[in-house]
Amino acid sequence: MSTTGSLERLRVSNRRAVTALLAADGPMSRADLARGTGLSRTTVSSLVADLIGSGSVVETEDRGRPHKGGSGRPPLLVALSTPAGGVAGVDIGHGHVRVAVADRSGRILAEELNTADVDAHGVGTLDQAARMVRSTLRTAGLARRDLHGVGMCVPAPMDRRSARISTGILPGWRDLLPGEELRRRLDVPVFADNDANLGALAELHHGAARGAADVVYVKVASGLGAGIVLGGRLHRGASGIAGELGHVQVGEDGQVCRCGNRGCLETLVSAPRLLSLLQPAYDDPLTTDRLRELDTLGDSGVRRVLSDAGRTVGRAVADLCNSLNPESVVLGGSLGTSPSLLEGIRASIDRYAQPDTAAAVRVLPGELGDRAELVGAVALALARVAVSVEQG
Ligand SMILES: [Zn+2]
Repeated sequence: MSTTGSLERLRVSNRRAVTALLAADGPMSRADLARGTGLSRTTVSSLVADLIGSGSVVETEDRGRPHKGGSGRPPLLVALSTPAGGVAGVDIGHGHVRVAVADRSGRILAEELNTADVDAHGVGTLDQAARMVRSTLRTAGLARRDLHGVGMCVPAPMDRRSARISTGILPGWRDLLPGEELRRRLDVPVFADNDANLGALAELHHGAARGAADVVYVKVASGLGAGIVLGGRLHRGASGIAGELGHVQVGEDGQVCRCGNRGCLETLVSAPRLLSLLQPAYDDPLTTDRLRELDTLGDSGVRRVLSDAGRTVGRAVADLCNSLNPESVVLGGSLGTSPSLLEGIRASIDRYAQPDTAAAVRVLPGELGDRAELVGAVALALARVAVSVEQG
């Protein structure tokens, strides 16, 4: 075999490693590509130049975080090119469906949000999501044929091998294949993942964790979950269900959890649980929006309950920090921007994590708020659609 031939084969396989990483994790800097593929910076730069030349990859307007210790401009990100037209992101929570339609650069053109009784009604929720995708497309001024793919997240662990949701968490979704069901309704490819995973990706590429390599994203909303980023890449685990922070056991004889275990962290800390704790002391009906508002205004009852909740979550996050040594913990979900929750988590990390580990980690509110999962779903769709065109 000739040396030129084997060098060319190596180059093809390296190019494939770069496009596969961009497809899995979305736009990133050349430095993150080098870190994620294990290739040198020089090799990555030259491969990216080839890929830009052949039209498979584009440089995006979005910039990463400035180089460490450097004062120069933050690096440009590179992304797989997508066909003209657009993609949709679908964020399914326990009580809502959110849909966005974006153009090929990831710019969101239109968005819709509706409440829904998601947990009990799998088929109904997917019907509703499909209707919302169609109407959001109309609002965005795109035709059905312009839609190339959909990224979707569900508020439960999703097994990558079976594409099913773990039984128990969403009783109305038993035996459903969410991605396949939505694909049948819309007749385009649908890529599904867990909500905290996509929230972590969104904060990593577009939010508070930009440029970080090791991040724990903690989502506090109707449920509790985490997305874990290691070495600049989302860590999904052997079967896709890594980061189930809500089901860490904190009390052997605690309340029965929807997963079937007892005493899970989520039975103590979730938005509905905290609202029901506080409601008896307030005249007006409390919502998570109101809770955040009262927290910012310094309401003592709300601050106490949220800070205690933060300490409880922080105890489990401190253990994760000891194992993973992350540089940031980013808080997301409808309660992720609560200052008292953040303060409680920080206090527990300082108390229970190994001192050097605690000193190395920053605890930050997410920049994308409760839209992180939606932004992540759009990014997933763009990345996967581009790679299917590339392999076309
Ligand atoms: Zn549980």
